[in-house]
Amino acid sequence: VTTALVLDIEGTTSPTSTVHTALFGYVREHLPQWLARNRSRAVGQLLDAVRDGCGRPDAGEGELVAILRGWLDENVKSEPLKVLQGLVCAEGFAAGELHGEFFPDVAPALSRWRSAGHRHYVYSSGSERNQRDWFTYARDGRLDQVVDGYFDLTSAGNKRDPSSYRRIAETIGARPADILFLTDLPAELEAATASGWRVLGVARAGEPQRPVPPWTWIGGFDEVDPLLEAVVVPERGSGAR
Ligand SMILES: [Mg+2]
Repeated sequence: VTTALVLDIEGTTSPTSTVHTALFGYVREHLPQWLARNRSRAVGQLLDAVRDGCGRPDAGEGELVAILRGWLDENVKSEPLKVLQGLVCAEGFAAGELHGEFFPDVAPALSRWRSAGHRHYVYSSGSERNQRDWFTYARDGRLDQVVDGYFDLTSAGNKRDPSSYRRIAETIGARPADILFLTDLPAELEAATASGWRVLGVARAGEPQRPVPPWTWIGGFDEVDPLLEAVVVPERGSGAR
């Protein structure tokens, strides 16, 4: 069976601290100047969405910057913030000031799984643009060639909502039982499982998440291979495979 592996970024492919310090830090610093240089209608609509999101319809740009920085501090998964984050960071990636940071077992695993015929997708709250740049500008060499697609809050929805996982399965044309999702957050494991996906929890050394029942947990991608076929969720209504 060919498996579609769907990967979370923060805490799964990449250290949480690198996402927070590198990406969030870059946005925090460069957002005001970036907004001053980018006054397109599309950016205006994003700022309106932020005004809606915080219930401050008359907020000026300075207030919006303060609100967005607050959301970064609290790791709020706001769609307009994540789109802006992707746009601002794109300049940092292109300029060589930002790099995707990955745990050392990720690149070898992706190349191994690709050789075995598996497909790889990324599902993160960061915008598709931001995810693509993270993999393209990976510090130790491009990883975008081994990724088949990216899903974000816009294309899939909230990661704690089971319907997001149904949407992804339809888009990639895979049966839920042929999809294996790797993430560090129990709420996301639960939502994916509710949509019939196979899941593995990722609890890496140095990351905040520890294994909790009832999921199967791994400490790194090296442990996934023997489990690629083994973590089976029975298909609903059609008996065992
Ligand atoms: Mg995560």
